[in-house]
Amino acid sequence: MLSEYRDIEVVLPAQPVSDGAGVRLKRSIGTEALDHLDPFLLLDEFKSESASDYIRGFPNHPHRGFETVTYMIAGSFEHRDHLGNHGILEPGSVQWMTAGRGIVHSEMPRQEDGLLWGFQLWVNLPASDKLCAPRYQDIAAAAIPVVNREDGTVVRVIAGRYGRVTGPVTKILTDPLYLDVTVPAGKAVELPVARGHSAFAYVFDGAGELGGSHKRQGMPVGSGLLTSFADGDRVQAVASPSGLRFLLVAAQPLGEPIARFGPFVMNTREEVIAAYEQYRAGTFLA
Ligand code: FE
Repeated sequence: MLSEYRDIEVVLPAQPVSDGAGVRLKRSIGTEALDHLDPFLLLDEFKSESASDYIRGFPNHPHRGFETVTYMIAGSFEHRDHLGNHGILEPGSVQWMTAGRGIVHSEMPRQEDGLLWGFQLWVNLPASDKLCAPRYQDIAAAAIPVVNREDGTVVRVIAGRYGRVTGPVTKILTDPLYLDVTVPAGKAVELPVARGHSAFAYVFDGAGELGGSHKRQGMPVGSGLLTSFADGDRVQAVASPSGLRFLLVAAQPLGEPIARFGPFVMNTREEVIAAYEQYRAGTFLA
């Protein structure tokens, strides 16, 4: 079968929201305009040089039924949980946390000023694994392979494959691709994405075009825009004179019912209410 470019399905601007104890975020999945992009439930970008936008952080809160993926560009977060785990998320590192049946944790900025910049993505778990034991993959920046192409394009492979390079995040049921792609001014790159997987790009620096082909123009995109793609085998990106940097993320959709309430994402309303009531009663982790 011939390889097919993926067309753009929708381009949406991230929305300003506040979450945690008052952290200002830009949300592009998990909004009124885009509730989810199966299996992705939420995408937040946090970026500020102003401490008042982030200093209150995300004090103790629960999660159940999905995975949270934190990828840092600048600044650092400190993480602690009810199991006694403690870690620092430094620039360029990723934490892939499978909350499973339950985690109670805090995510607090480890700085009182300066730029804090990164992303949190929520990836759903299939019904069979919503109550699995929680686990972490904490991956240091140096452990993330970087592909430097001859034309100056740089691809950090966090999960999935680019060419012969495989990312360090492993054994995730939805078989994700998570790339951080920097394309220099005027250059173009083609990125293979598994057919049948849901895929999106989130531009966070520069501008350019996404979703075109050698025959067709792509759609113009810039920082803070989320682009979701129709099915196909590859995505094309062309950088403007200011260059282009984006996350390219894809995974196997689950096709299961989604019942969500804040930090709990299950398949039925009853399961979500149970999680909420257990948390209130102090039996969430029992
Ligand atoms: Fe959290």
